[in-house]
Amino acid sequence: MCIALPAKIREMRGTKALVDSYSGLRREIDCALHPEARAGDYLLAYGGRAMKLMAKAEADELIALLNQVAGRKKLFDIIKKGKLGFDDIHYLLTITDPEEVRLLQREADRLREVFLRKTVCVHGVIEFSNHCASNCAYCGLAKSNGSIVRYRMEPDEIISVARTAVADLGFKMIVLQSGEDEFYDDDTIVRIVREIRKGRSVLIFLSVGERGETAYRKFREAGAKGVLFRFETSDGALYRQLHPDSDHKERLRHLKFMKTLGFLVASGPLLGLAGQTIATLVNDILLMRELKIDMASIGVFIPHKETPLSSEKGGSVDTTVRFIAATRMALSPNMRIPIATSLESIDTDNARLIALASGGNSLMLNLTPLKYRRDYSIYPGRFGENESVQSLVDKAQDVVKSLGRRVCKGWGTRLKVQESADEFLPVCE
Ligand code: SAH
Repeated sequence: MCIALPAKIREMRGTKALVDSYSGLRREIDCALHPEARAGDYLLAYGGRAMKLMAKAEADELIALLNQVAGRKKLFDIIKKGKLGFDDIHYLLTITDPEEVRLLQREADRLREVFLRKTVCVHGVIEFSNHCASNCAYCGLAKSNGSIVRYRMEPDEIISVARTAVADLGFKMIVLQSGEDEFYDDDTIVRIVREIRKGRSVLIFLSVGERGETAYRKFREAGAKGVLFRFETSDGALYRQLHPDSDHKERLRHLKFMKTLGFLVASGPLLGLAGQTIATLVNDILLMRELKIDMASIGVFIPHKETPLSSEKGGSVDTTVRFIAATRMALSPNMRIPIATSLESIDTDNARLIALASGGNSLMLNLTPLKYRRDYSIYPGRFGENESVQSLVDKAQDVVKSLGRRVCKGWGTRLKVQESADEFLPVCE
């Protein structure tokens, strides 16, 4: 795998283009997807294939950016590399020069644009129960927190909220999330999934915690297509300290069988926990790559006053944005990277704009009915806690437009990421 670079076509030989590439080498590029290509045109090449044709002005702009990066030898070497190793990712996460950080963000943004074009995917999440049998040290829903009002949505209410979001608002992907709540047994979850899917094309992601392989097989058979299941940290010892009721190996085992069952897997870490080092964060990125996740779900820890971690500092926008950019560079370049609500919550005005311009490509909007939403207090001051769904949708549209992008029309089956350099990369529409 190598990075997507611009090249000028010298000559066409059937469907092959002989090009002068940015790196100075003369190469043959497969141009079968762009039969209109002519000598003198510019193209963007990736893995020996032309990803797209470009106007000269766009190519010039891109070459100017690459020339700026080329002045920073270490960063440029990493960008050219394609498959990044531990030291490369470590370097990206520890750059201190603001100009170089900006170049990293722009390069991640460029890569996102090549593979996912000018689209932003918008998903919805329904938080259907805040009951939880676990005591994760960072989470406000922990069983031991007696200060929150607990709620459960009726299955029919969950189905109705989801179907309305799909039919009236055009949502194509819905996450159903809850604490570890066995009140909803497997058959109930199966029924909810089936009813939401009935006659509709919608991608349902479940975020319901550890329920074992048999249950997830049933959910998959019922038509659930994805799971949102963070590994929280790659550091087994840190995981143990934070999760009295869960085992790191079991968490990872879940992720593996979920992948085998054919789920699209959204996973990743929670950033900003005390005890995490830069090495931990590098390993988080490498773990996402090893697990071949389809979507990088990157959360930012926000301390909750009713938890054992109440006096911790929590995560920062800077580290998270850099982590997003490094993830875009280190994982498959068409990786879906949603902007977590927790990131939006620590900088309501700017975080989504910065993150969407640094490799992020999607937004997650809260569809939970307002009467419950405030009680899903995994952390305080959640973004959009008091806003109607319509207002959240309108604001998301404004953000997307202000970036010169548009909401993705459909991805469904095109979501799967590239798993080997030979596979053709699907793009957003
Ligand atoms: N029970 C499900 C869903 C958990 S809640 C499961 O186990 O997967 C979804 C996510 O909220 C968690 O994975 C965690 O990363 C995040 N979260 C919990 N507490 C948080 C906090 N204080 N700050 C930021 N994110 C938090």
